[in-house]
Amino acid sequence: MTILPTVMPDEFVLGYWGRVHILNFLGTPTQTVEALIDYFELPPSRIQRIEALALAAKTNVQDFVQSHTLIPAHSAITYEFAGHAHGAQKLNARIKQWWKLTQKPGAYFCPQCAASQHARWGYSYWQRGHQLRGVNWCLEHGNSLLCCPETAFINDTPSINLATGAVPEAEPETPYWPVLTRYSEIMHAFLKRTVRTRMRDVAKTLRSVAANKSINTGNNLNYQYLSDLALGLLPGWWLEETFPSINAKQPGTPFPALDNTVMVRHAQPHAFALAMALIYESSDEALATLPH
Ligand SMILES: [Zn+2]
Repeated sequence: MTILPTVMPDEFVLGYWGRVHILNFLGTPTQTVEALIDYFELPPSRIQRIEALALAAKTNVQDFVQSHTLIPAHSAITYEFAGHAHGAQKLNARIKQWWKLTQKPGAYFCPQCAASQHARWGYSYWQRGHQLRGVNWCLEHGNSLLCCPETAFINDTPSINLATGAVPEAEPETPYWPVLTRYSEIMHAFLKRTVRTRMRDVAKTLRSVAANKSINTGNNLNYQYLSDLALGLLPGWWLEETFPSINAKQPGTPFPALDNTVMVRHAQPHAFALAMALIYESSDEALATLPH
């Protein structure tokens, strides 16, 4: 093991693992990470692989989890271990389970980001922010992300030759665009939050703001459900991809995966991102309501 590449800003862990692998020609990707474990003489532990990759990147597990995995988005708003850092030792069991998780099937990149990385460093790499669920356009360039097979994280760097498809072109003049932009901004902001936020604290604030905007929070039956608002505003394909089976729901009935955000029941962080994008006028205003 001789070449330990510098980890790049927002580089996704699987892509970094792939670059270590490609640069060192060590059999399979698993053999590469095992060679790293030997190289650093790591004692047995359940998170040995991510420890080895963090050391290769000249950092520690906590910072590596925070900056190079999707765990900060998967656990942005949570009902357990609130207040803990995403890479805290106490969460090793979760880290072991989640460090390789993506948020949508496939490996995604923005061709313009890849071209500018190429021009600057002579190669391109997989960015974590492009793998966020429901984030289908580059926040910086506005264009559609290209999708590649998930194996490309480990075996390749981003290239249009690998692309198997792209999401529909962005249409900034449509009424849904500001909502999707806010959603993307909030999801990106989740990656930067350094601790797990207590779900109840977020949901309580959201609930009162939603009720003031005539959204049904569970006890005002004349108000519309957040999910009906979403179905009226957002493209069906985007909703279905981000919240499977939402298109099958009947108008005037709740869709728990989204409506639970304002009913102070369990919901996933990306549902909170969409609820906030629908309820607030700007992502800054939405993010300011989150506890620090
Ligand atoms: Zn871009």
